[in-house]
Amino acid sequence: MKIHVIGGGPSGLYFALLAKRRFAGARVEVFEQNPQGATYGFGIVLADRGLDRLQRADEASYAAIVKASFFTRHRVIKHPGETIFIDGGGYGGAIARLRLLQILETHCQAAGVRLHHGMRIDDLDDLDAIEDADLVVGADGVNSVLRKRHEAAFGTTSWMLTNRLAWYGTEKHFPYPVMCFRRYRGGHFVGVAYPYSERMSTFVAECDAGTWTRLGLDAMSDDERRGLAEQVFAEELGGCALISNKSLWHSLPVVRSTQWSVGHRVLIGDALHSAHPSIGSGTRIAMEDAIALADALASSPADMRSALATFRLAREPAKAKLVAAAEKSFMWYESFPAKVDALDPIPFVFDFLTRTGRVDAARLYAEYPRFMKRYGANLPDPSRTFACDRAEVRQ
Ligand SMILES: Cc1cc2nc3c(=O)[nH]c(=O)nc-3n(C[C@H](O)[C@H](O)[C@H](O)COP(=O)(O)OP(=O)(O)OC[C@H]3O[C@@H](n4cnc5c(N)ncnc54)[C@H](O)[C@@H]3O)c2cc1C
Repeated sequence: MKIHVIGGGPSGLYFALLAKRRFAGARVEVFEQNPQGATYGFGIVLADRGLDRLQRADEASYAAIVKASFFTRHRVIKHPGETIFIDGGGYGGAIARLRLLQILETHCQAAGVRLHHGMRIDDLDDLDAIEDADLVVGADGVNSVLRKRHEAAFGTTSWMLTNRLAWYGTEKHFPYPVMCFRRYRGGHFVGVAYPYSERMSTFVAECDAGTWTRLGLDAMSDDERRGLAEQVFAEELGGCALISNKSLWHSLPVVRSTQWSVGHRVLIGDALHSAHPSIGSGTRIAMEDAIALADALASSPADMRSALATFRLAREPAKAKLVAAAEKSFMWYESFPAKVDALDPIPFVFDFLTRTGRVDAARLYAEYPRFMKRYGANLPDPSRTFACDRAEVRQ
C-alpha cells in the first residue's frame, strides 16, 4: 500500500505514524513545506481527555508527549472590574508545538515513515505526482492545496472572522493560564497566556474589528503591533517581551467541507474543518481525526472507499460536537467587547465559561465550587444576555 500525506503538522505526522504501525509493509510518505525544526506558533494546550485517546492509540508517543508537557491547574480571568482567581478544575497540559512535532517525527522515523521536509506541494505537477498513491491525505491545514484543487467536489465553503490575533511567546512564566480582557485607549483586547515549560509561555493577543481600525492597527507594521500589545498587557508581562515566531496579526478563516473524501483523497484536521484557538483543542481534534482514519483503514484495508466511508461514519458525531463548540466560542469572541462593557465580572466569567454550551452550571459547581458560590450570590439580570448570530459577524 502506498500512502501520501501532504503536511507534517500534528494530524499528518500522527496519521502517518499510526498507519505505519498498522501496516508495516506500507510505504508511507509525508511531504512538509517547512524545513525540519521550523514551525509557527509556540505552546499548545492538550486537554486531559484528549491525552487519554492518544494513550490508547499509541502508548510510546503518548509517553513522550506527556513527559514533554507542562501541567497546570486553576486559572485567572481578568475583567476590567475585577481579577478573578478560579481555583479547581483538572490538570491541563501544554507542550511546545515544535516539541510535539519533533516527538511525532522521531516516532515516525523509527517506525519507517519517510519524511520529506522543505517540500511544498504547490502546482498541479506536484499534486499529480502526490495523487499517484492508494491513499492521499490532505493534512495541510486551513489552506489545504489538496482541498483547493478539488474544492467543488469537497463542497468547501469558507468565510473570515473579523477579530484579529497574533500568536506570541514570552519568557514570562505564568503559574497558571491567565485570560485578560482589557480596555485600552477606547479599544478592547484580550490576551491569553499559559505556560508550556518552566521557562516559556504562550501569549495570544486579540482585538475586535472596531479596535483594529480605531486604534490604527490596520496601518501599523507587525513590529509596531507587537509593541502595542506589550503596552496593552504590560501589567501581565511584567517587563518581559513578546517574542515573535512568524507572529503576524491576522483574522482566521472558517473552513467547512461537506465531503470528507473524494475518490482516494481524504482531508483531516484543519484542512477538513478549521477549529478555533479559543477552545484550545484544534490539535487534539486534528490528532483524533488521524486516529479515526487509521482505525478505519485497518477495518477495510482492501477497500479504500469503504474505509473512507467508515472514517466519516465513526468520526463525524464526535467531531461535529467539537466543531459546533468551536463555532459558539468564536462567535462569543466576535462580540466580546459588548460583553465586557455590559456584564459585571462574575456574570461575565460565567458567560465566558459556558459559551460553548458544553459546560453547564452543574459541571461548574463540580469543578469550581468556590467560583460558583460567588456566582450564585450574583445571578445576572436575564435582560443583559447576548445573542449573536453568524450573519451579524459576516457583514
Ligand atoms: C493562535 C493559535 C493558538 C492555538 N492554540 C491551540 C491550543 O492551545 N491547543 C490546540 O489544540 N490547538 C491550538 N491551535 C490550533 C492548532 O494549531 C490547529 O488546529 C492544529 O495545528 C491543526 O493541525 P493540522 O495538522 O490539521 O494542521 P497544521 O498544524 O496547520 O499543519 C499543517 C502542516 O501542513 C504544512 N503544509 C501546508 N501547506 C502545505 C503544502 N502545500 N505543502 C506541504 N506542506 C504544507 C504546514 O507547514 C503544516 O506543517 C491554535 C491555533 C492558533 C492559530
